[in-house]
Amino acid sequence: MTSNPTTSGPPSLLHEVAMRTPGNSHVEMCIQCGTCGGSCPSASAMDHTPRALFAMLRANMRDNVLSSNTPWMCVSCYFCTVRCPQDIHITDVMYTIKNISLETKAYQAKTASDFSKTFIRWVENYGRSFEVGLAGLHTLKHFAGRLLAMAPMAIGMITKKGMSITPPKRIQGMDQLKKILKRAKELEAA
Ligand code: SF4
Ligand code: SF4
Repeated sequence: MTSNPTTSGPPSLLHEVAMRTPGNSHVEMCIQCGTCGGSCPSASAMDHTPRALFAMLRANMRDNVLSSNTPWMCVSCYFCTVRCPQDIHITDVMYTIKNISLETKAYQAKTASDFSKTFIRWVENYGRSFEVGLAGLHTLKHFAGRLLAMAPMAIGMITKKGMSITPPKRIQGMDQLKKILKRAKELEAA
C-alpha cells in the first residue's frame, strides 16, 4: 500500500485507489514499461493506454483519470496483470477507478455504461465474457473510425493469444449462476 504523498489537504487519487483496491495492488510501482498496453485487446478503444492512465494517476490528474474511458473499455481478460513486471493488479485497479468514477459521476455516460451493460449481458447469458466480440462490437458502435487501427491487435490476440472469434459456449451450471446473480442484485438493492 502506498503512503500518501500529500501530508495536508485531501488524499491523492493514487492513495485513494491503493487504499480501496483489495490486497496489495502495487499500483504505485509502475515503471511505465508499456507491457500492459501492448497486451490489451481493448487498447485501441481506450482514450489512454493503461500505462498512460497510471502515469496520470501518479501525477494526480484526478479529473482526467476519472473521466477516462479506459477502465470502462477493460474486458477483464487479465492479460496485462499476468504480464506486468511489477506485479501490479491492473485489472483490479481498473475496477477501483470505475467505482470512484461512478461515485463522483465523472465517467463518460454515453459509452461507458453501454460497454458495461454489454459485458454483463454476455456474463448473464453465457456465464463468461467474450473479449473479442465485446471490444469489436463496442468499437463498431462508438468508435468506427478506430476499427482499422484495432485490426492488427485483434488479429494478434486471435492468432497468438488464442482468443476465440466465436461467441462462447454456455458454462455448465448456468442455472446456479443465474441464482447467484439474482441474489447479488437483491443484496445490492437492499
Ligand atoms: S505493465 Fe505494469 S509496470 Fe509496465 S506500464 Fe503497465 S502497469 Fe506499469
Ligand atoms: S485486463 Fe483490461 S486493461 Fe488489462 S489487458 Fe485485459 S482489457 Fe486490457
